[in-house]
Amino acid sequence: MNELIDTRKRDYPAGCRVVLDLMDDKYAPPQGTQGTVTGVDARGSIMVDWDNGSGLNATDIDRVYKISTADEAVITLNWYGVHQRETDSRCPRCGEIMLGPTTRHALSRYAQVYVCDRCGMEESLEKTGITEAKPLTEWCAIKIPSVGGGAWRR
Ligand SMILES: [Zn+2]
Repeated sequence: MNELIDTRKRDYPAGCRVVLDLMDDKYAPPQGTQGTVTGVDARGSIMVDWDNGSGLNATDIDRVYKISTADEAVITLNWYGVHQRETDSRCPRCGEIMLGPTTRHALSRYAQVYVCDRCGMEESLEKTGITEAKPLTEWCAIKIPSVGGGAWRR
């Protein structure tokens, strides 16, 4: 049991974003619902703040996985957009702090979230085909939380 807990804590650190695949509970959020891991309990269940407001834990028979596709990344980036700080927030693309009011920076062309001016410029070059697009799964707001970097609201 301790081994399961250790493995789950390592695989699903607090703050990482997960997608629900299957949960054996009639009150389970719909398949595909995303949430933020808050920890692993003494029984090895993954504690999740689901985006739909549910707080049901994922037990060892339930299936969750980390954000792994561009479509899933967009959902998480939109979620970050809702929770993005009003000032001095972190650019979800490069991870730099965006000084001043968040809305003075660039609205991303990929999701409803603000990015720093430099990333906004890079996105426009990507959209015109001048440069290759940085995969959404490589954005800091997706990669850092998945290895234990926290829920990434700042
Ligand atoms: Zn940036």
